[in-house]
Amino acid sequence: MGNHFDPDLMYVECGECGNPILWEPGRTRRILEMAGIDPDGLDERCCLISEGCPMCKPEASHFATQVVRLGREKEDGAKERRQSAN
Ligand SMILES: [Zn+2]
Repeated sequence: MGNHFDPDLMYVECGECGNPILWEPGRTRRILEMAGIDPDGLDERCCLISEGCPMCKPEASHFATQVVRLGREKEDGAKERRQSAN
């Protein structure tokens, strides 16, 4: 229980306009729950990409989001490099 990650501290960015999104405390956790994502499986290397934000899509009331794990992208890249070497 020592390494509990607070999903509200997760960095959220708009995938459409690239702006960081700051929303009210508790909203990130609620979005994760709605998306069926277990916050306990996340850590500080995860960030949330939103398909739009109130800045670029003011008419939308909710936005689809996607969790991106920063460390994992590097692992995938290393795998691809190994495959192309063979
Ligand atoms: Zn945006």
